[in-house]
Amino acid sequence: MDSIIISHKDIDDIITHAKEGYPEEVCGILAGRDNEVLHVYRMTNTEHSPTSYFMDPKEQFRVMKEMRNKGLKMVGIYHSHPVAEAYPSSRDVSLAFYDDVAYLIISLLYKEPIIRAFEIKESKIRELKLEIKE
Ligand SMILES: [Zn+2]
Repeated sequence: MDSIIISHKDIDDIITHAKEGYPEEVCGILAGRDNEVLHVYRMTNTEHSPTSYFMDPKEQFRVMKEMRNKGLKMVGIYHSHPVAEAYPSSRDVSLAFYDDVAYLIISLLYKEPIIRAFEIKESKIRELKLEIKE
């Protein structure tokens, strides 16, 4: 995967989620096909922390099942950084269990939110192109 495609509407939805959750990190699952996001699932951050997140396993199980039923796969995982840059933390790297998904990070550190996408494979971080379509 070199890029991830996502609609304006979904980006807005993710930013709204991040702002609503402030000052805690929020997280969610991006469902779609190939490298295109078609649905955003908001998830509960069970850590309720400004510097870390962990998705509720029960919710994740339910969402995985729903995605399968809809013929979608997990294209990405997003989470917010309320007080940090849009770059994976060492904890994010150590908890990146999926090689083939895009990790989107929304930073609220500055006046304007910043979103970047990464692949995290064998502890190596590679930035992906974020293609925002109408
Ligand atoms: Zn993080």
